[in-house]
Amino acid sequence: AVKSHARNGVRRFDPSLEEEIEWQQTLARELHFAPPRDQLYAAYQPIYDLNSGTLQKVETLLRWTHPVFGDIEPSIFISVAEANGQIVAMGRWVLEEACRQACEWQRLSRRTIVVCVNVSPLQVMQPGFVLSVRQVLSQHRLSPGQLELELTESAVMRNLPVMQSALLELRQLGVKVAVDDFGTGYSSLSSLKELPISCIKIDRSFVNDLGTPLPAPQYALALVGAVIGLARILELEVVAEGIETASEQRLLRDLGCQFGQGYFYSRPVAAAAITALLTARSVPVQLGREERQPSE
Ligand code: C2E
Ligand code: MG
Ligand code: MG
Ligand code: MG
Repeated sequence: AVKSHARNGVRRFDPSLEEEIEWQQTLARELHFAPPRDQLYAAYQPIYDLNSGTLQKVETLLRWTHPVFGDIEPSIFISVAEANGQIVAMGRWVLEEACRQACEWQRLSRRTIVVCVNVSPLQVMQPGFVLSVRQVLSQHRLSPGQLELELTESAVMRNLPVMQSALLELRQLGVKVAVDDFGTGYSSLSSLKELPISCIKIDRSFVNDLGTPLPAPQYALALVGAVIGLARILELEVVAEGIETASEQRLLRDLGCQFGQGYFYSRPVAAAAITALLTARSVPVQLGREERQPSE
């Protein structure tokens, strides 16, 4: 009895936790050999002006399709890559790919759009980061104002002093910066005011709260309205993430939100689908659709 008890004492580990760690290690190993453009590739999600219905920006979202395990969630493999440092090279590849693609879109459509790229704080805190951004831009002859880097609110706030100086350098370069997942990261109003940023992206969870059931709860309307008001006062652009229904779209537009993205318009798609949107005759998306898009 004593023996088995001792053994139980040693095996304090929840087996599912052990499996979880093993899985993370497997992913880290597999990710190391995942070839860019093959297993790793970029998807793009359109961002629309909510008033005119025109496509204004495109967010680049990294995808990993493993030959055996299938599609791995970005939230999972990004954190694996952040834990082992691979995110720096991976992020650099995404940035290059997005800039190359933006240049190609411009050539094909003669339209100037902004390409948004998510970046990890680990990338931004690398000493040569801003220089590498400058090099990628000039390599693809993209003007700095056509690139917008997205950093999560918590990433910015956790590393405020370093971020502040990196963001200042980016501003001097002319690159835009968006604070992603806004509302989840405890910004103080004073630090937000001091940050050299150009855009805030309202986190999907708040947009979701506007949706079902109607009428939208007062707290959600007030909260999203307050963020939009804050953006206006600070003269920042504002994007609502995760719009899935016509009623969410209408409420956001009525609250004065400038831009929106979400499954209501389009899921993240291949570059060619964005090319098609940009070169189509009827450019504005239909903003009045009432039917509900099926969600995941
Ligand atoms: P994010 O930057 O906030 O990106 C938005 C996420 O919301 C994406 O998830 C997108 O597919 C999803 N989304 C967009 N519209 C809707 C909608 O209407 N409904 C729902 N339910 N979801 C919607 P995804 O692609 O799984 O990416 C998750 C996160 O992974 C991103 O969140 C971003 O933080 C990170 N990520 C993705 N690509 C990169 C990258 O290249 N570098 C870095 N550092 N992070 C990345
Ligand atoms: Mg983002
Ligand atoms: Mg987000
Ligand atoms: Mg929703």
